[in-house]
Amino acid sequence: MDGYRDAALAEKLSAQVYRFSKTPVRLMEVCGGHTAAIHKYGLKDFLPGTINLLSGPGCPVCVSSQKFVDQAIFLGRRKGVILTTYGDLVRVPGSVSSLEKEKSRGADIRMVYSVLDAVKIAKENRGRQVVFLGIGFETTAPASAAAIMRAEQEKVYNFFLLSAHKVMPPALESLAGGDTQIDGFLAPGHVSAITGTMIYQKLADVYHRGVVVSGFEPADILQSVLLLIKQVESGHFLVENEYTRVVKKEGNPRAIAVMNRVFNLVDAEWRGLGIVPESGLAIAPEFANHDANLEFNIRVPDCQLPKGCICGDILTGRKNPAECSLFSVRCTPVNPIGACMVSSEGACSVYYKYKT
Ligand code: SF4
Repeated sequence: MDGYRDAALAEKLSAQVYRFSKTPVRLMEVCGGHTAAIHKYGLKDFLPGTINLLSGPGCPVCVSSQKFVDQAIFLGRRKGVILTTYGDLVRVPGSVSSLEKEKSRGADIRMVYSVLDAVKIAKENRGRQVVFLGIGFETTAPASAAAIMRAEQEKVYNFFLLSAHKVMPPALESLAGGDTQIDGFLAPGHVSAITGTMIYQKLADVYHRGVVVSGFEPADILQSVLLLIKQVESGHFLVENEYTRVVKKEGNPRAIAVMNRVFNLVDAEWRGLGIVPESGLAIAPEFANHDANLEFNIRVPDCQLPKGCICGDILTGRKNPAECSLFSVRCTPVNPIGACMVSSEGACSVYYKYKT
């Protein structure tokens, strides 16, 4: 793996990017992991001014809608409910509170490292309703699906999922067809390890955008940028896979099968993108008895987004964090005002950490 961090290789790739890059391009690094790596390794210093890198909608915590956060808070306040979640989500400000604040007020909200930990908690607390907050893309959805199947097999009927799981291609197609000029995508490596590479074909064939599935090391990203530049300069758009050591064309069929068995595609709300058709994963009727949306009468008032926060524009490549008047003034990782400052993969948090 060290070879992918080799300085000489990075210099060589950088020189090639300089050589091939003629026209200004706007490339979106879809995954928050890419954003973090680009800033951690100072990769923008290796690229010519013709290349503008934009952050995308690949941070699960960031794109989860305000309504979902409010629904989670509603459930956290319900008597008898144990709410389980990955850590970052507790710090995302909802309309009037956050899960962190609710926890400090006595709500039973527990951080878990795996959704199976939530199933275990449900088995140990049969008299309580245990809800797991399912966020993330094709990377995490199979684990949630497997947990539901496990709960069903083991008759853990007090385990529920509140699903905000999403799938990536409809969001990228929405961006490609929208008003943000994007010439190419560095497609997310982890998602693609599950889905394979064919899910991006429409971006190349219909929207005429370049797509390169990229790894997360410096040489991966520079190589991917180089491949995208060559596509844009030639006007020949296709789906390429730079991350072949992890991503196969067919993806992970077993994970896809589990996901397809437990979830159905539905329209879903994304922070920044609004409602994207068939981009969300709802629990299929066969497993409806584990669906928190059906078990609880979840009612939340109209959502309020944090005043002055431009997370939505950042997640769609329209603006960068430094253009937010609250960035590093009132909004910091210790006191996040918007979702993009919470997760280590959030663009605002990354820009803050690396002072870029
Ligand atoms: S700096 Fe804070 S307030 Fe501004 S866009 Fe980012 S998260 Fe929102």
